[in-house]
Amino acid sequence: STDSDRTPVRVDSQDSQVSDTETVTDGGLGAGGSVAGNRWPRQSSLSMREWDIPFDELKIGELIGSGRFGAVYRGQWHGDVAVKVLDVNYLKDEKTLEQFKNEVSTFRKTRHENLILFMGACMKPPQLAIVTSLSKGMTLYTHIHLRKDKFNMTKTKNVAQQISQGMGYLHAKGIVHKDLKSKNIFVENGKVVITDFGLFSITKLCFGNRKSDSLGIPPGWLCYLAPEIMWSLQAHNPHDVELPFSKASDVYAFGTVWYELLCGEWPFKGQPPEAVIWQVGKGMKQPLANLQASSDVKDILMLCWSFRPGERPDFIRLLTILEKLPKKRLERSPSHPVHLSRSAES
Ligand code: ADP
Ligand code: MG
Repeated sequence: STDSDRTPVRVDSQDSQVSDTETVTDGGLGAGGSVAGNRWPRQSSLSMREWDIPFDELKIGELIGSGRFGAVYRGQWHGDVAVKVLDVNYLKDEKTLEQFKNEVSTFRKTRHENLILFMGACMKPPQLAIVTSLSKGMTLYTHIHLRKDKFNMTKTKNVAQQISQGMGYLHAKGIVHKDLKSKNIFVENGKVVITDFGLFSITKLCFGNRKSDSLGIPPGWLCYLAPEIMWSLQAHNPHDVELPFSKASDVYAFGTVWYELLCGEWPFKGQPPEAVIWQVGKGMKQPLANLQASSDVKDILMLCWSFRPGERPDFIRLLTILEKLPKKRLERSPSHPVHLSRSAES
């Protein structure tokens, strides 16, 4: 169901440049801040303005890539930035736009070393964009899956700790990431930077835009989804349903990232989506028989992938567990192809 047959809603603002053809509302962030129908109960118009970047101030450069919700460009705005331009066709629905703005408004409050710096957003239709700092590093996905880089245990542990620190901070702020995956984790000179937190409600509407399989599921996404989310996928069309993401589902996704770090591949690799959804939904896990790692290391996987959300640890607990992992005996034995081999000391 779409809202396309609705009367376009105009926001009563002093900014008269809103075109009559737009079905999307202007942010109503005009100087007066008189917002029709009290549309921003959680925002004052002043705080909205602080991150409202005029689109003409942005210099858009080369296309970096495109993801689920639109294109990402290198840009200039007081220095190098990344600009995520949203495909406005998927934001016709007024409710979605509002939800998106609310989500974006929470990013403004994030200040953490391991989180991408949110610089602002352009909220003037037809241009809707998110501006963040540009990461000069590579994603964990590129390291692991494209370059086949092997991380020794010290590095693996260090990366996992930084991810947990960033995620713990997000959760403490009440933000659920909803799309934690190796593609959204940059590593820059050993420093981990997490991106794209909280953007999922917008991305799900853009599935139609992307090459995806018969279920409308983008490739490389399923293995991060917790059982409770699989049930929702089974029961509903992902375009129409609000998937039950939670802090615990972020922890499940972290488990998958931990697995990628350890094994250099995704769980359920090569299996059709229907099979993955069915297995995970029933509580089945990627077998770890071939993973040569200590039980403490495997326990982290089992904890994060717990069937019941309540049994998954939070990131504070994960930090404690990671900290306790013994360093020495987990070091990679150079002769062994699996980088988490049991070495002589154990
Ligand atoms: P996905 O996360 O699924 O790869 P995105 O739309 O988030 O899709 O990203 C598209 C491309 O832009 C990816 O190659 C990603 O690495 C890159 N990218 C996204 N954000 C940034 C950023 N802040 N700095 C540098 N590159 C980025
Ligand atoms: Mg991304």
